Amino acid sequence: MLGLSNKELVNFLRELGVDVKTHMSSIDTDTAQLVEEAFRGERTPSAKDAVEEAAEVEEVIVPENATVGEVAERLNMPVADVVKALVQKGLMVPADSPVDEKVLKALSEAYGKEFLLSREKYEEKAPVKAKPKPKGENLKPRPPVVTVMGHVDHGKTTLLDYIRHTNVTAREAGGITQHIGASVVEHQGQKIVFLDTPGHEAFTAMRARGTQVTDIVVLVVAADDGVMPQTVEAINHANAAGVPIIVAVNKVDKPNARPEVIRRQLADLGLIPEEWGGDTVMVDISAKTGQGVDHLLEMILLVAELAELKADPTVNAEGAVIEARLDKGKGPVATVIVQQGTLRQGDIVLFDSTWGRIRAMQDDKGKSVKEATPSMPVEITGLNDVPQAGELFRKIESEKEARDAIERKKIEREVEAEHPRRLTLEEFYERIEMGEKQQLNIVLKCDVRGSLEALKASLLNLATEEVGISIVHEGVGNISESDIMLASASNAVILGFDVKLSSDVKKIAEREGVQVRLYRVIYDLIDDVRAALEGMLAPTLKENVTGHAEVRAVFSVPNLGSVAGCYVLDGTIRRSAKVRILRSGAAVWEGAISSLRRFKDDVREVSAGYECGIGFADYHDFREGDIIEAFEVVEEKRRLEDAKR
Ligand code: GDP
Repeated sequence: MLGLSNKELVNFLRELGVDVKTHMSSIDTDTAQLVEEAFRGERTPSAKDAVEEAAEVEEVIVPENATVGEVAERLNMPVADVVKALVQKGLMVPADSPVDEKVLKALSEAYGKEFLLSREKYEEKAPVKAKPKPKGENLKPRPPVVTVMGHVDHGKTTLLDYIRHTNVTAREAGGITQHIGASVVEHQGQKIVFLDTPGHEAFTAMRARGTQVTDIVVLVVAADDGVMPQTVEAINHANAAGVPIIVAVNKVDKPNARPEVIRRQLADLGLIPEEWGGDTVMVDISAKTGQGVDHLLEMILLVAELAELKADPTVNAEGAVIEARLDKGKGPVATVIVQQGTLRQGDIVLFDSTWGRIRAMQDDKGKSVKEATPSMPVEITGLNDVPQAGELFRKIESEKEARDAIERKKIEREVEAEHPRRLTLEEFYERIEMGEKQQLNIVLKCDVRGSLEALKASLLNLATEEVGISIVHEGVGNISESDIMLASASNAVILGFDVKLSSDVKKIAEREGVQVRLYRVIYDLIDDVRAALEGMLAPTLKENVTGHAEVRAVFSVPNLGSVAGCYVLDGTIRRSAKVRILRSGAAVWEGAISSLRRFKDDVREVSAGYECGIGFADYHDFREGDIIEAFEVVEEKRRLEDAKR
């Protein structure tokens, strides 16, 4: 058809990038057109690639938990445009809400690209003091460690009791004699570790010491009640720690239970139920009758699986203290959770404050054990002192190493006692040298919701590209111990407007080194934060020209080398100034003054209209007629308004 032999045709097609085996192979209409165009000289052989490229829909990979804002970033587009495009597609989604399938579909339609969800998490952006990555080469799945949180009386204890009593294997069932601070239950042959102390106090107290053992938070909300202050607090605590939340909507056996209302209230707080296209697992349960509890356990295992919890049982043992006490008979006793490696009887372990050689170990059923693998809680004896909850430990090789380390830590603590660990608003001023993006974390407490909303809006408005503001917790009411612990764990300052700080809570704040500032005037609070943020902004360096002098003669002075005999034209020349030498308007040298004299005397400065001799550090090549420009470098504090531009 094209006037070519079969072989020539096949070669021609291959050159064009068309995959044909023989001249009998069928070709599609696109290819036929391509061949025709190529034959007419309108296309080069590489044209096929170009056609393919154009036909290929561009894929945009979106991490599983990315927000609309982050997708906009990947698209290199303003967030507002992306949100607007979604609105045009009938979806009202704020920039900080996570994308789901619906949003992706709308985005695909709006931008003609294919948006694909990947399992890759958006780690850089997660508001997380992320847990250290597990070390070791033999990573094995480990059971999840779960903390139950929620408002008082919503059924946390009842749920834990129910789970503990029904989900132990038959052989062990008789053996529940004591609680060691955590319990291991089994569901469908898989282990789950529950911390015994429900509520966020223990969770946050640990985190305040930099320890995080919790992998999943189960948030209990009573379906006959609703979202309460401690529910909100628990969500903030879990979010601040970057721990996934599973909601247990409890008490659904009650006639006045309204699980749908709970879902709506939680959605308002950003926990969107999975069945509504969100990513929060919510399970209806009754801790009393046991309805739904199996499903809850299943969901815990599922979330754990997605989180790919792993640890290497062969590396050096490390872990954290859950609780500790002094037992009359056994001496110091600590319940620890092994976080990696395998802890064995006889190991020497070093804590922050003490050390010991493990004499005996018991599991949560009171059974004596010889070793504990990752995630497993055990009670250990043989320590020299009682460590605190949240302290970390690791296995070490010798008693001498332990003694030396404790001695070193004692000195470090003494040094630290002189320098509080947490940031104060004032310290932000001192952070100006740091180039990286700074963030001011705030716990905001107000007398009434109205002022809280107003303050929050004004504070968030102060944030800039370089300096972020994160309100890690907000609430109405006086400042509580829990506020302090959260602030301590998140390195936040507490700002209170028209609220009180009791002397007990004040003491805790002092112990934790958390700054609490109380205000009665809204503008004072905003001004202080603005000032703190301005301290965080890197200053701009500015040159201030202080004066000019003209070189009128060049002298040679013993011990000084060449000195310029100058006449000060304007301003002043200071001994401390930096100078540049201008010749025909261009700078030929820049540096410091090494000597400044009037007649034979060293002087600190010379003003306009006077003559002086100037020597320069390592520069002697000046000439008559050169202009000396003296300047100082000043740091100019930038104002937030400037940074926004
Ligand atoms: P906590 O303060 O969150 O630990 O709450 P508790 O576990 O002490 O429970 C508070 C009250 O609610 C107790 O009287 C429980 O018996 C009751 N309760 C807990 N769960 C349920 C449930 O699922 N159904 C009903 N009807 N009552 C429950």
